[in-house]
Amino acid sequence: MPETALKGPISFVCPKCKSALRSTEKALQCSECNRTYPLVGDIPDFISESSSASIDPSDRGIRFFNILAPIYESWLWQTFFLALNGGAGKTSLQSIAGFMAETLRDVTGNVLDVACGPATYARRMVSPDRNIYGIDFSMGMLRQGKNHITRDGVSGVHLARTRVEELPFENAIFDGAICGGSLHLFPDTMLALREIARTLKAGAPLAVTTVVAGNSPGARSMKRHGGHAFELSELQQYLSETRFEGFTSKQDGTFITFSTRKAAPRI
Ligand SMILES: [Zn+2]
Repeated sequence: MPETALKGPISFVCPKCKSALRSTEKALQCSECNRTYPLVGDIPDFISESSSASIDPSDRGIRFFNILAPIYESWLWQTFFLALNGGAGKTSLQSIAGFMAETLRDVTGNVLDVACGPATYARRMVSPDRNIYGIDFSMGMLRQGKNHITRDGVSGVHLARTRVEELPFENAIFDGAICGGSLHLFPDTMLALREIARTLKAGAPLAVTTVVAGNSPGARSMKRHGGHAFELSELQQYLSETRFEGFTSKQDGTFITFSTRKAAPRI
């Protein structure tokens, strides 16, 4: 039976109070708490209004990713996945994109791409029956993503600068989500997973690539730089506590791909 036609893009809501936003020429404004979020080109910036940039500890990280943006995809592939995590010869950008596409193969409607970088995977997952919402904390990455999207003539990818802990989306609005190479970088894994779960519909799949503990330069470097190198059991516990179920994983060295699903609500 044919699905109902794809609805237009969903509306962002205020990441703080989750109320509707009014659109002006250069900003989105919350109708409830009056916060104003500037538009950079057509990318809403949900971070600059609400944080004091000078004292934000993640600023250094943001600057690093802004500098990295133009070369991100080659860096991602050659350095991080292949060399650092012992997946050489087994893992590639293409194989990860393939894993994500496969996990979300039955998903139509709205897809969330958490920490999308320059829309690396989002651009490879577009289809006429999907809208993909890429969020990242680096405006440099998002602008690079916008350039790639324009260059490739891709449609259906929408970008916003926001933190994973405060997503500018209503509850249960996404039919699926991906999170490539960043779960171990979020300061509070549980908070991040809980917020992702909040925005997912029951049964919606989540595809993740991340780093697990082990003796690889990638895992050691992750610990040194304040990231997490998860024990597999720890990761599964986080997921179960944040209402995910059906964990399936594949590991190459200390690099892991896994899929899971938002559990149905408890009755
Ligand atoms: Zn608000």
